Amino acid sequence: MNTDGNNNPVSPEPKAAAQTTDFIRTIIANDLQSGKHKQIVTRFPPEPNGFLHIGHAKSICLNFGIAEEYNSVCHLRFDDTNPGRESTEYVEAIKRDIRWLGYDWGEHLYYASDYFDRLYDFALELIKKGKAFVCHLSGDEIREQRGTLTEPGRESPYRNRSAAENLQLFEQMKNGELEAGTCVLRAKIDMAAPNILLRDPVIYRIIKTSHHRTGDKWCIYPMYDFTHCLSDMIEGITHSLCTLEFENNRALYDWVLDTLETPCHPRQIEFARLNINYTVMSKRKLLQLVDEGHVSGWDDPRMLTLSGLRRRGYTPASIRDFCAIIGIGRRDAWIDMGVLEKAARDDLNEHAPRVMGVLKPLKVVLTNYPEDKAEELEAINHPQKPEMGVRTIPFCREIYIEATDFMEEPPKKFFRLAPGREVRLRYAYLITCREVIKDEHGNVVELRCTYDPETRGGSTPDGRKVKGTIHWVSARHAIRAEVRLYNRLFTVEHPDRDKEKDFKTFLNPESLEVLTDCMLEPSLQKATPADRFQFERQGYFCLDEQDTTAGKPVFNRVVTLRDSWTRMKEKMKKNTGTKP
Ligand code: ATP
Ligand code: MG
Repeated sequence: MNTDGNNNPVSPEPKAAAQTTDFIRTIIANDLQSGKHKQIVTRFPPEPNGFLHIGHAKSICLNFGIAEEYNSVCHLRFDDTNPGRESTEYVEAIKRDIRWLGYDWGEHLYYASDYFDRLYDFALELIKKGKAFVCHLSGDEIREQRGTLTEPGRESPYRNRSAAENLQLFEQMKNGELEAGTCVLRAKIDMAAPNILLRDPVIYRIIKTSHHRTGDKWCIYPMYDFTHCLSDMIEGITHSLCTLEFENNRALYDWVLDTLETPCHPRQIEFARLNINYTVMSKRKLLQLVDEGHVSGWDDPRMLTLSGLRRRGYTPASIRDFCAIIGIGRRDAWIDMGVLEKAARDDLNEHAPRVMGVLKPLKVVLTNYPEDKAEELEAINHPQKPEMGVRTIPFCREIYIEATDFMEEPPKKFFRLAPGREVRLRYAYLITCREVIKDEHGNVVELRCTYDPETRGGSTPDGRKVKGTIHWVSARHAIRAEVRLYNRLFTVEHPDRDKEKDFKTFLNPESLEVLTDCMLEPSLQKATPADRFQFERQGYFCLDEQDTTAGKPVFNRVVTLRDSWTRMKEKMKKNTGTKP
């Protein structure tokens, strides 16, 4: 059972078993059984134009996961055919994130740009076969003449040029003799094809921009549909797994390989992309959030980028678990953010040691505790895992408790501290509130309490019942820290669904709460960014590598102990009968 520090169940349902099979794995198993393939080769083909996000993790876990299961390899191939938007910074970030997730491409690191010479030769071959032509229509004209789903397109006036003329023009394009926008190379397929993508698609365009790897060698760049299938073919990929929006592109993928009569022909299979509510998932939109300063960077802990999740404190295992739980299907679906958070919670519940940290401190003076005395009390590190051991925590006359654990006029079900009331300090003593000190505005600034020396460790030798147990830290020994609490970045489930409104109008102004004067138990002095902790009753936390300084640690809350959002939504539904 999953429990918080007080042994309360927090998420009763068992962890979903890892997905063992899906329709893609079934196809692959059949291909191996029938002898169609002896070895499986997959690839993950990111475009280095942004950081990877949780959607990419789904594809990474699928492609690298299958390779692992079959003792095979998964290639990492950068699809770097848009020089204007790509950079080596993104290449390095992508490599770091994949490694962090726990996957390794070994020797198999490739770039589509490595194939530019061969792709050029393939284009020449298409031209010679009469299957490609240089077209001088503008982009707008091409779009306009493409037709619609119900009407065929019109043929370009340049369509029936001779191969010789096309070869000469294409060479001029390559040599930089023609300006960007003056012409493109188009495949010659069928302007009446029901699949619009087959209506003489553009396969090369002129871009006079330096490329992060090939520099100024090229001023023509191949389009995705031409590049992707041929790159897969060159690398001997057996199964080219992509998301459903490429379903219509499959016909073009197959046309290129068939027309060029390539020696191998990878099979493209589409699966549903990952969509999660309360976030946006496209790199273009994530880039806008970064560029316009709505977040602190690609690794802002509120972003569902892999670097953001890492900084937030998600473990790679929890992200792999999440991908296994959601599985692979062919139907587009929305995954609730709570599912991702639950994966983090389940993983951390299992492995994170428990500690005490006071986020909004209220000072308590124990008037009958000697001023110069301090003792070391024993605390357990994990209630279900004795093997994780114990630690000691210092106790003395002045301590901090959570301000919310005291109420001057407590309602009926409030069992924590109140005037005249007794509570248990976790692992320490029972204390009774004797006096409330206020400032000139009437705010409670300090409590005067007495402790019962007979109750060391929280026991009650006389058997008296005390309902509330609260956490605390010794004032003299506490570490002062900044703690950042995160909330969802958007206030609505589908921020980019409303076409009339910019998705950024739905940004949650309360997505980050910074608490600057938190008091943490001294054992956290030794925390490293690799550690995760459960602050009892508060959630799971980790040290922020970026912003922590020698004098002031910064902790991020990874996730709360309970799924308060889902509970809140359910409550609202029950109360109002409507969706929040
Ligand atoms: P975005 O749409 O976020 O800009 P992209 O598809 O342009 O992403 P690529 O770098 O081209 O990003 O993606 C690399 C691989 O990751 C592709 O095979 C793509 O299908 C896959 N991928 C991207 N987004 C998702 C997602 N949400 N769910 C599953 N796979 C995804
Ligand atoms: Mg893409």
